[in-house]
Amino acid sequence: MSSTPLRKLLKLQEADMRLRDLKTRLETLPKEMNNIIAKRDKLLASTGAAVAKVKAVKLRIKQEEDLIAELNSSSDKLRQQSALVKKNTEYQAMLNSIELNKQKIGEAEERIILAADELEKVKREGAKIKFANDAEIKNLKVEFEELFSFSKVVKEEIAKLESARPGLMTDIPPALLSPYEALLNGKGNCAPLVTAPNENCGHCQLKITAQTAVAIKRGEIAFCDNCQYMLYDPESVE
Ligand SMILES: [Zn+2]
Repeated sequence: MSSTPLRKLLKLQEADMRLRDLKTRLETLPKEMNNIIAKRDKLLASTGAAVAKVKAVKLRIKQEEDLIAELNSSSDKLRQQSALVKKNTEYQAMLNSIELNKQKIGEAEERIILAADELEKVKREGAKIKFANDAEIKNLKVEFEELFSFSKVVKEEIAKLESARPGLMTDIPPALLSPYEALLNGKGNCAPLVTAPNENCGHCQLKITAQTAVAIKRGEIAFCDNCQYMLYDPESVE
């Protein structure tokens, strides 16, 4: 029985269906890989945003410190000048300016204290975010590498199946091979050879004729009168 055209066609179909599955799978891989890259980029952006928050608070503290330094040096200058001033009103104006600087310094110092608390908070939050994101990125990297090696395996199997295909087609009569190929390359994802459980066509589900039922029981390949798919009886190949 092993050399019957039916057996050969079924073997060919098995290879072709596997080939189809693999190609479909391969087609979805770039999209899956791009999704992983997009997820990673999002995580990197999230870490970047957390780092930027810390930087922004540090910058604010630095600006306040610069302001304090400026006010201190301005007060130092005023003190030096005040020693040379003769007029009491001018002297008083300088003292007022120094007093105003002192006030501004006090305000800046208060803002620094608040900003320092905020810095601790954004640092803590940032570290937490980075830790979680790094772990997730590590997982994504593993996932990506798995998909990449999987795609190599799939490509190799496709190449193997394609090179074996001509060998599987030998000795199949053209009268069977051409309709088989036409159905294979036609619309739909149905296999060209289908069984007929309860004498219903496995493709279109309509009742097959008595004549067709007898033919497939004998181990022949028959064509469905309705949809032209190729019918066979699995018991005849056992
Ligand atoms: Zn049918």
